[in-house]
Amino acid sequence: TVKGKTAVITGSNSGIGLGVARELAKAGAHVVLNSFTDRDEDHKIAAEIANEFSVDARYIKADMSKGDECRALIEKSGACDILINNAGIQHVAPIDEFPAEKWDAIIAINMSSAFHTTAAALPVMRAAGWGRIINIASAHGLTASPFKSAYVAAKHGVVGMTKAVALETAQEPITCNAICPGYVLTPLVEAQIPDTMEKYNMGREEVIKTVMLERQPSREFATVEQLGGTAVFLASDAAAQITGTTLSVDGGWTAL
Ligand code: NAD
Repeated sequence: TVKGKTAVITGSNSGIGLGVARELAKAGAHVVLNSFTDRDEDHKIAAEIANEFSVDARYIKADMSKGDECRALIEKSGACDILINNAGIQHVAPIDEFPAEKWDAIIAINMSSAFHTTAAALPVMRAAGWGRIINIASAHGLTASPFKSAYVAAKHGVVGMTKAVALETAQEPITCNAICPGYVLTPLVEAQIPDTMEKYNMGREEVIKTVMLERQPSREFATVEQLGGTAVFLASDAAAQITGTTLSVDGGWTAL
């Protein structure tokens, strides 16, 4: 059970990270929220979670593109029973035109951050005698799309690292898994709908089902609440023997 445990969720002032933090808090976990900004709004999100679910909730600024800040996040959190590596960015371009600085940023934020946080969190988990590492990868950790070379490389890397960490912790009460979401309705995705409607001259439902969810057989978005529920499950006692694997939440995308 996650009740009373402390969860650190990287990149959690919006979207999936925030959804996962809210579901963990709903299940009774204390949560540490994170992003690279330090706005009143960021701290307010944490205060609202604390108030709504009667748990401790804090916001800690740390830039996940920088290894030392990743490690400092874990240190400042004090406890870290559940680590959710979620921070991520995207850039879309053909590989021969892909800006090198975008490549470096995606590899750093989407992949290397999980190396640094995991390295810092494992000793803390070992001292506590329990731990759960949950990496938010993607359907693009298992399959590819054109023009997303950095993202696909980083997410495949995260899936590989997940397996290695699971083997290193196999005989300890610590597990490491990856959740692989398909298309999730986050504010970021929602914001693309009006432009896409205009581009294809289609209504909202048609654009969602035939353009955006073309590769998602269910023709439904996954929700941040469903991803949060999946994380709560992976952190539960029922999942104690689930380690080194991926759990797809993608409406059948990777079954195609
Ligand atoms: P989002 O943009 O809403 O969230 C990304 C989060 O990461 C934000 O909180 C942002 O502040 C944070 N972030 C970005 N750069 C950071 C940095 N340098 N340091 C710290 N935090 C940083 O997007 P999302 O859709 O919620 O994505 C969350 C994760 O889920 C990402 O890893 C993404 O690749 C993955 N994912 C998303 C989808 C989808 O359809 N939305 C599908 C599969 C996987």
